[in-house]
Amino acid sequence: MNIFLTYDYELFFGAATGSVEKCMLEPTNALQKIADRFSISMTFFVDIGYLIKLEEFAPKNPTLQNDLDKVKEQLHELQAKGHSLQIHIHPHWEKSIFADGKWKIETKNAYKLADFSDDEIERIVRTYTAYLNQLTGKKAQVFRAGGWCIQPFSRLEKVFKELEIRIDSSVFSGGHFEAGEYSFDFRTAPKKSNYHFSKDVCIEDESGYFTEYPISSHVYSPLFYWRLYGLGRLFPAQHKMIGDGTFLAQPGRKKLVLTSFTHNHVSCDGFYASKLTTCLNKHRSANATDFVVIGHPKGLTQFSLKALERFVARNYTKHMFKALTEEL
Ligand SMILES: [Zn+2]
Repeated sequence: MNIFLTYDYELFFGAATGSVEKCMLEPTNALQKIADRFSISMTFFVDIGYLIKLEEFAPKNPTLQNDLDKVKEQLHELQAKGHSLQIHIHPHWEKSIFADGKWKIETKNAYKLADFSDDEIERIVRTYTAYLNQLTGKKAQVFRAGGWCIQPFSRLEKVFKELEIRIDSSVFSGGHFEAGEYSFDFRTAPKKSNYHFSKDVCIEDESGYFTEYPISSHVYSPLFYWRLYGLGRLFPAQHKMIGDGTFLAQPGRKKLVLTSFTHNHVSCDGFYASKLTTCLNKHRSANATDFVVIGHPKGLTQFSLKALERFVARNYTKHMFKALTEEL
């Protein structure tokens, strides 16, 4: 089986964005150590809107210039070590500013690409992709939507084709959330390791231009979330996130997961990492060819880093750890 460890490389988007050091640099360095030890490649979906905003505000602010320099340095290091840097778009950066020493994040009617007009979507996708291509000296070909909000894909199709962005990894089978600024519904998505599509990420089209590598999905029990929320309080040293910001609100989500079985991604963030082996085994018995794990440097914990290291140690000779790239 191919195992893809994929990370959304970004700050937080709630009231506090957190620091570059804690949300991005420090946890990503911890990931690099694991990757180095086992000679494996990972994929980083870079929040390009943030980098573009840094470019805008850095000339007037030495702290932001320092953030920008360090992030670029880390991205170059990741690329030099063979990791794949791909496109992650959180378009709310279009409406966010840096003032009074902090980022003022504006997500209202700006969290999803679909919140923007067709012309704005085209401009955002083109500008962000060009920025990443310039940074890496390569042509980015894999996309992950911020907050998984990729629908309706028909509004992205044209510009993606023009830019030859052929692969998406935003879908997770069974996923569904419509509240606050979030809107995605993957309940009808094919339950496959990968598939072609054209206008709708949930409808397979064998001759479609695009390929979906969905994030692997798992049904989590309420008990899992009771543990997840409880452990952070009981054992903060192991279970507190390294990232020092706050999440964008997901109204009603906590109650939902604590009271019913819910689909969510296979993830190496926090306590989710405890399920990696269980999830891999399930996907193997279902004859999956690909196992796509999502993570966020900001969401890692000491516990999850240890769990990930054990998971890689156990599997790196049995399976292929690969980066999501055009060479698939
Ligand atoms: Zn993101």
